[in-house]
Amino acid sequence: MITELVLASGNKGKLKEFAALLEPLGITVRPQSDFDVPEAEEPFPSFVENAIAKARHASRHTGLPALADDSGLCVNALGGAPGVRSARYAGEPKSDERNIDQLLADLAGEADRDARFVCVLALVRHADDPQPIIAEGEWHGSILKTPQGEHGFGYDPVFWLDDLKQSAAELDPKLKNALSHRGNACRHLLDRLALEQTAE
Ligand code: IMP
Repeated sequence: MITELVLASGNKGKLKEFAALLEPLGITVRPQSDFDVPEAEEPFPSFVENAIAKARHASRHTGLPALADDSGLCVNALGGAPGVRSARYAGEPKSDERNIDQLLADLAGEADRDARFVCVLALVRHADDPQPIIAEGEWHGSILKTPQGEHGFGYDPVFWLDDLKQSAAELDPKLKNALSHRGNACRHLLDRLALEQTAE
């Protein structure tokens, strides 16, 4: 039974969100800043490998169970790029605006605009856990030719949702949470954890 875990992220928004989600399961979420965890390497080509590496790293440094996430945009016509390089697709320093410009340039003249956001969550009970809990969420859309909308972050202004006739950056943030890759991954994680918490 898990009663406390460390979140392998410095993002305060994520901390608040995960703390609220896990509190009903009797789990207290601690930020990794409480423990001075050094930054983790993210050298792998897949989201799941990086999420597991970050979770193990945080667990090793804190002695606590750890939860990590990794997310990004995968574009069909680009073989899944920008993928794990989403945050820094146009190089350093990271910039949402330059990433979008790079993506639109790479897709110039391309008819296949299909894309998906992916979020993978990994939870390890201890640093060498042989069976991490993995939860994955996807959100399907297509890439616009010009950005539109003011909400959200990252690639939201060019991520078009054909059923809603809006970009992700035009959605009400609550609706985005209900539909997004991150929301879906969180719901899967909660289902898995709820089973685990009651089984023990
Ligand atoms: P992180 O895993 O939260 O660091 O996100 C990695 C990168 O993927 C972000 O910097 C964005 O470029 C992109 N990304 C992930 N989730 C979203 C989203 O919900 N909207 C737009 N871009 C996203």
